[in-house]
Amino acid sequence: MRALRLEDIGNLHMKDLPRPKVEKGMVELRVSHCAICRTDIKMWRQGQRDLALPRILGHEVAGILEETGERHVVWPGESCGTCGHCLGNSENLCSSMRILGFHRDGGFAEYMAVPEGALIGIPQDLPGFIACLAEPLACGLNALSLAGLAPGQTILIFGAGSVGLLMALAARDLGAKVFLHDINPVKLGISAEFRRRLDLKDTAIEQIPVVDVAVNACPSMDAFLRGMGLLASGGSFCLFSGFMDRSSVPLHVLNEIHYRQLRVIGAYGCTREQMARAIRLLDKHRTEVELLIDERIALENVPRALSFIETGQTLKYVVEF
Ligand SMILES: [Zn+2]
Ligand SMILES: [Zn+2]
Repeated sequence: MRALRLEDIGNLHMKDLPRPKVEKGMVELRVSHCAICRTDIKMWRQGQRDLALPRILGHEVAGILEETGERHVVWPGESCGTCGHCLGNSENLCSSMRILGFHRDGGFAEYMAVPEGALIGIPQDLPGFIACLAEPLACGLNALSLAGLAPGQTILIFGAGSVGLLMALAARDLGAKVFLHDINPVKLGISAEFRRRLDLKDTAIEQIPVVDVAVNACPSMDAFLRGMGLLASGGSFCLFSGFMDRSSVPLHVLNEIHYRQLRVIGAYGCTREQMARAIRLLDKHRTEVELLIDERIALENVPRALSFIETGQTLKYVVEF
């Protein structure tokens, strides 16, 4: 099968590989679509905590079970199923978690081996290039839920990339008032139609009132510091993105957490239940979500696309098989 494998940091190559070995409890999925994520770029450029090499990347996958013709998306995890996190509502925190596209081979290949329990069915008429966004949307749902966002509350999302926009859609759907902020005029330009349909204006930071929740869908420390300053007392900041730069948090911001009873909470990954909810949201908003996809490309063109995506001038590229 054709596969794109990361051999080493910086070395991504097209390979002709045997189809994956399907161990007990796994099934073989024919990949129809796999979206490209910023994390794939991070792994290619600098590695990632959970990455084991060599690896076929790709964790935003939709595909088909060939025996039945059923279409699915993939929860990109393999968890133990018995620990407290797995039995509770946080299976993404399972300590023996193995992530597809990180620890195990992912969706930048014609076929992938998937744990049976990781398949999530999709409506037969939902296009695969939309369905494969279930994973990033579910990660956004995880962030909103951990931040405790409730209908009628206000939320400020930093970053008008595809994940920030998907999160904005979810917050809107929940009945929250959404402020979206990005410093990149290109991102604002290419997301203009999506934002217009959802009535999401880019608001100058000076005009944003205090908010109940703030989330960073970008790796900037400045977003965190500004967001903390704009939180209402008792509000929550969700750290959705890790930080790239070496900046530190000033003491007065930590003291604000104390005096104003702010909450800072992290979010990483998602659960199967959140992915099933994401599918319902994508199905409901498919015409808007389609606007987030810049291009559907062949697997061979991924390396070139990664260099372009890195420049921050795109929303979402999807590999189509
Ligand atoms: Zn991702
Ligand atoms: Zn577990």
